[in-house]
Amino acid sequence: MTHIAQQDDKGSHMEKIASFKVDHLKLDKGLYVSRVDRKDGVALTTFDLRMRKPNFEPVMDMPALHTIEHLGATFLRNARKDEVVYFGPMGCRTGFYLVMFGDLKSKDVLGLVTEMCDFIIGFRGDIPGAKPEECGNYLEQNLDMAKFYIAEYRSALQTAPHLEYEA
Ligand SMILES: [Zn+2]
Repeated sequence: MTHIAQQDDKGSHMEKIASFKVDHLKLDKGLYVSRVDRKDGVALTTFDLRMRKPNFEPVMDMPALHTIEHLGATFLRNARKDEVVYFGPMGCRTGFYLVMFGDLKSKDVLGLVTEMCDFIIGFRGDIPGAKPEECGNYLEQNLDMAKFYIAEYRSALQTAPHLEYEA
């Protein structure tokens, strides 16, 4: 048996991870709890900041996604230094994951996420961390398109907030 065949065999027995079990065809722009993990008395909540309707709207372009990552992480880590664990883009480019300490609900962070949107929409000047010594692809930024996507997302959160996955 080859090494690759062994991997394939193992792969077929791997459990489907929780985030793939959500029906992405029913998913709209929103702010969802993706999962809550607990270990040694510590809870971590992973939020799904879904900014584009999956398989329906065009996904975010890579430079805009990168700019949202830089600005979003800067804002969140300054606003809630001790609570934010991670903020980063989904590979499908329809949104971001936000990981925070605590067993939380979407409404607990709706205000924070809205403030993050306001920070990005109002941002002017040099994008933080976008220098060659600070970033792996520093020229790939698009502030105008980042503002466009975030303004649409903010408006969706205000007008019809989707805060829980449909069953
Ligand atoms: Zn970067």
